Amino acid sequence: MNIVDIIDKKRVGLELSEQEINYAVSSYVSGEVKDYQMSSLLMAICINSMTDAEMFYLTKSYVESGDVNDFSEQFGVVVDKHSTGGVGDKTTLILGPIVSACGVPFAKMSGRGLGFTGGTLDKLESIEGFKIEQSLDEFIELVQKNQIAVVGQTSNLVPADKLIYALRDVTGTVASIPLIAASIMSKKIASGADHIVIDLKVGSGAFMKTMEEAQLLANAMKIITDQYNRKLAVFITNMDEVLGMYVGNGLEVFEAKQFFDGIYTSHLYELIIELSAVLVSFGHKCSVEEAKIQVLEVLENGKAKNQFKVFVEGQGGDFTSIYTEESDAKVKNVYPLLANKSGYITSLDSLTIAKAALRLGAGRLTKESVIDMHVGIKVNYEIGDYINIGDEVLTIFDNNGADLSDLFENLVVTSETEFKTPIIYDIIGLD
Ligand code: URA
Repeated sequence: MNIVDIIDKKRVGLELSEQEINYAVSSYVSGEVKDYQMSSLLMAICINSMTDAEMFYLTKSYVESGDVNDFSEQFGVVVDKHSTGGVGDKTTLILGPIVSACGVPFAKMSGRGLGFTGGTLDKLESIEGFKIEQSLDEFIELVQKNQIAVVGQTSNLVPADKLIYALRDVTGTVASIPLIAASIMSKKIASGADHIVIDLKVGSGAFMKTMEEAQLLANAMKIITDQYNRKLAVFITNMDEVLGMYVGNGLEVFEAKQFFDGIYTSHLYELIIELSAVLVSFGHKCSVEEAKIQVLEVLENGKAKNQFKVFVEGQGGDFTSIYTEESDAKVKNVYPLLANKSGYITSLDSLTIAKAALRLGAGRLTKESVIDMHVGIKVNYEIGDYINIGDEVLTIFDNNGADLSDLFENLVVTSETEFKTPIIYDIIGLD
């Protein structure tokens, strides 16, 4: 087989065979196919897309490039939740304890990406001592003992995606539905999840900017999990506004802790309850309505709150290092952004807030960037709330004197008419 023939075939829009896809992927991993050849093939895929069969074979070749976990003997059913990435997204920190408090093992391997704000692993690392690097045996032991573990992906999990995603990132070839679906789902399948819930964010602060793109990606993911006989539900959710109140690693962990004391925004609460109920229904093979009763019960009787502590301490985290109030954030400067207009908020752009968080030091754009765990932004209003001139829209937690003024000039948009947006737009895959 010859990579140039494969590139040519894809360039003219013909369907690649399983063998050709396997050859391209495995030869790239081995170094025989060069970066410039793989980039060329990826660009041809971006332009001509892939058939469902090609997308499945690509996923399969990714999965088979490394270790494939199967925890069915140790844990029974394994459920996992994956978010395509949002601003202020701390859902894993909250729903993991809830789902495991309901008796469903929550065994999650998380990736560490680049981003305007830290990922789940960065947030967890803001807790002193929290250990995200665990061997496979330690991971299994943690889940058996505590019913919950969130760890970094082991180095040999889908190595083909690791290499190809890094190449896509620098060659303008990320934006392809089959490439994204194969990349995300291969990692879920190889990590051993049988039942998967995807929180597919759509809006200004997300990968997917339109509902149409999000629905296409959700359908592509479903095609892959159907082939693998895994259960999948995809929530398409609103990422035009920050999820919850805080953006920033230590502050988001504080918000997760507060959730268990009954302090939350309405959107965060709704999303957590609905996602948790579907995961519990998958785990217990019961209806979503029955599962929701269990979810509300563990929140009410304190089991979920206790499980949050068990989770943190189980992985070596010092629970007392989590802020008990926001003023525990070790920053030099806390200052407000005041509203310069009044009315019902119609826009508080999440991408702009994410860019501001990056400037403060809450995220990383290169692998070498060092995150400041204490900085961040508190968003004091949700879209739809009424504000008056002079109200404190944002509270900034700053350590390096970052100038954010250019970003915030037109952050708040208001209207005289009442305005509400939903958090969940659609759920695909629940029968
Ligand atoms: N996240 C992934 O893991 N892969 C993609 O291709 C896009 C987002």
